Amino acid sequence: SYGPLLAQPSLIYLLAITALIVALLFVRGRLAGKVAVITGGASGIGKATAAEFVRNGARVIIADVQDDLGWAVAEELGGRDDDHSAVRYVRCDVTDEAQVAAAVDLAVALHGRLDVMFNNAGITGALSPTPLGSMDMADFDRVMAVNLRGVVAGVKHAARVMVPRRRGSIICTASTTALLGGLAPPAYTASKAAVAGLVRATAGEMARSGVRVNAISPHAVPTPLAITGMAQWFPGTDVEERRRIVEEMNEMVGPALEAEDIARAAMYLASDEAKYVNGHNLVVDGGFTVNKQLNVPAPGRHNL
Ligand code: NAD
Repeated sequence: SYGPLLAQPSLIYLLAITALIVALLFVRGRLAGKVAVITGGASGIGKATAAEFVRNGARVIIADVQDDLGWAVAEELGGRDDDHSAVRYVRCDVTDEAQVAAAVDLAVALHGRLDVMFNNAGITGALSPTPLGSMDMADFDRVMAVNLRGVVAGVKHAARVMVPRRRGSIICTASTTALLGGLAPPAYTASKAAVAGLVRATAGEMARSGVRVNAISPHAVPTPLAITGMAQWFPGTDVEERRRIVEEMNEMVGPALEAEDIARAAMYLASDEAKYVNGHNLVVDGGFTVNKQLNVPAPGRHNL
């Protein structure tokens, strides 16, 4: 019987302290102690990911160009404008390499290191259908500057500080448009395919340096980017109608794809649970990109 053993006060204290330590570790979460920079963290997927990371014990720097929103989100997540705050906002236009480098350096200056770089900032560019022959090259350049060059800068500067420590997780937001044509205009589609290519191109060097680099490819998520973008495709619709249109793009019957689903995918890739996952493109689309219906309807045939 354990009776006599438990009767000893010192053993009871030891058990209680052990239980407390285990409980504290559990409460601190799956990213306990990690330091993350999230570009595009003021809105949508980036904001949901910042919340998920903070809930799981990470210290987060939200890097965006929407200053008021960025500070408000940081504050909502418990942040303050001081160097000891676990959540901070920093203005960072990812088209400017120096600003990306500065956001990474801020993480190192405040917290001593960078564990997770989420290269997530993105724009759609013009969505109104335009014949290829009159494509707007300025729009193409703008989309590439944010969605591809911004991600390249993020990978580069994360590697600069992660490789010497031989650890870290770099995550880049691609899209289902990286896998299929016809879902978005050529500039956006090409930029996201290039992000997936960049991840493949850098995974080998990162593997040898002890760092991981992966992509996440969401399908349609009702964020400001998607809902605003839809206005060009469905003129005359209001925000609620467009939100419904985005939700109806879902493949699964029942659950709807939400920014939080992408946030949880990012958390997995950021965490040590994914310690051997490298060069992967984690597609979060309910099976959309692996299921194409026959173009010709066959009598008596259903979508099986
Ligand atoms: P969002 O508009 O809610 O968030 C994007 C954020 O990026 C905004 O806060 C914006 O200010 C920021 N940003 C834009 N340009 C920037 C720049 N130059 N520098 C720094 N920040 C900048 O949209 P979201 O849907 O959350 O988009 C996040 C990422 O997810 C994007 O890369 C987008 O392409 C990708 N994505 C979105 C969907 C979707 O359906 N929502 C699907 C697939 C991929």
